[in-house]
Amino acid sequence: MRAMTYHGAHDVRVETVPDPKLEAADDIILRVTATAICGSDLHLYRGKIPTVEHGDIFGHEFMGIVEETGPEVTAVQRGDRVVIPFVIACGGCFFCQMELYAACETTNPGRGAILNKKSITPPAALFGFSRLYGGIPGGQAELVRVPKANTGPFKVPGTLADEKVLFLSDILPTAWQAVNNAQIGQGSTVAIYGAGPVGLLSAACAKMLGAEQIFMVDHHPYRLEYAQRTYGVIPINFDEDDDPADTIIRQTAGHRGVDGVIDAVGFEAKGSTTETVLATLKLEGSSGKALRQCIAAVRRGGVVSVPGVYAGFIHGFLFGDAFDKGLTFKMGQTHVQRYLPELLGHIETGALQPDAIITHRLSLEQAAEGYKLFDKKQENCRKVILTPGSSDVPLTETTETPPLVPATCGGPASPAGAGLAERGNDHRGMRSTGNNSKSERHVHRQGNGRLSARPFADHHHGGIVHRR
Ligand code: NAD
Ligand code: ZN
Ligand code: ZN
Repeated sequence: MRAMTYHGAHDVRVETVPDPKLEAADDIILRVTATAICGSDLHLYRGKIPTVEHGDIFGHEFMGIVEETGPEVTAVQRGDRVVIPFVIACGGCFFCQMELYAACETTNPGRGAILNKKSITPPAALFGFSRLYGGIPGGQAELVRVPKANTGPFKVPGTLADEKVLFLSDILPTAWQAVNNAQIGQGSTVAIYGAGPVGLLSAACAKMLGAEQIFMVDHHPYRLEYAQRTYGVIPINFDEDDDPADTIIRQTAGHRGVDGVIDAVGFEAKGSTTETVLATLKLEGSSGKALRQCIAAVRRGGVVSVPGVYAGFIHGFLFGDAFDKGLTFKMGQTHVQRYLPELLGHIETGALQPDAIITHRLSLEQAAEGYKLFDKKQENCRKVILTPGSSDVPLTETTETPPLVPATCGGPASPAGAGLAERGNDHRGMRSTGNNSKSERHVHRQGNGRLSARPFADHHHGGIVHRR
């Protein structure tokens, strides 16, 4: 089969590798129909995660059709169309019974990334995420072995195109968990650090839940502009405003700060040269830049919710400030399995339209280019999806039009919006490519062999780049 493989920092290639085989009685083999590149893959791509070896297959956001089932698989059968949670959980252990699937204590033969481990079990295995998380080959491939198939694979209705449900595998439940951990509800105020896919979908979830003010901090004007236009966020560019937390507080009632804050950045946070250098030298586990801003922006008694990935220690962590403010911290990998039925419902009603953030649809063969675009933020890239074996799919125009994201809340554009250096116009990213240049839509092969309409979502808003 063809698969994306790692060959050192910034060097990924699509190669022919052996097909996966069933290894346990409750495994399935899945034929992948769509997969995405996640911000977490970028940590691997940049060579920042230990125990990744040459030839490793990445990818933990994927879906497809069940091709083969082990003898003990009862939850799905050959031909079922399923989305796969990136967390591999057994469903029966102490933690799985509490629906803390990311803490599953039976699936990971690795040790996890914890430093002061003592004798506790590692967290759940993850697809395509180093030997610390089990060394399980990922789904940026034509075929993938899915362990624990009675717990993970989530059946999705054939009426919804792949790209509408693909993000159930990771970033949508991650955003949902982050927003719920931050206790966001009707009338809440929230600040979201990071306008990548996780931050953007956090804004979508916060808006759906009725948040009154959503601040968003990043330094890519095109991402901030998109979030302002789509979710009504108040954008703050940290290249132009060196203290976004102060700007946020000044716009909240009583200058108290926001009710909840979400760190959708993680350990590679930019903005502190010292910490970036120390982290590169491994003298610092993570950059504390975003986290310090989060602690500063939230009100007393508020919640700091951290979906961004962190590793090891942070010297500049103001624990005393957190104590003084009486803060709650909630964080960790997402308990994906727990949220899927509810989130599918929100996609079906159109209340959540996660596919709207997609800017690049490439074939799996173009994975290396997809990684580069997403890593370097080129062509106004927000999210890349890859389609295995798609180059033979005929391109045809259809008539389906995606509904626009309903605008119901979100603060007005604020003075902070003036911090945007460059009013990014996503249409600059729209470019004609190959024989598809006239078509704004194409027909996508559903895993069941049918051809179904898959719209170019958000073509009103987003620079859509589609290449074959
Ligand atoms: P991304 O890399 O596209 O987005 C990160 C954004 O943060 C970028 O736009 C970047 O410009 C911005 N940023 C950098 N430094 C910043 C700072 N100091 N302040 C504000 N913004 C800053 O990635 P993504 O896909 O959105 O993922 C975000 C994080 O979430 C990553 O750390 C990823 O590993 C993590 N993640 C966690 C889970 C989970 O289960 N907890 C799941 C998915 C992703
Ligand atoms: Zn991910
Ligand atoms: Zn378990």
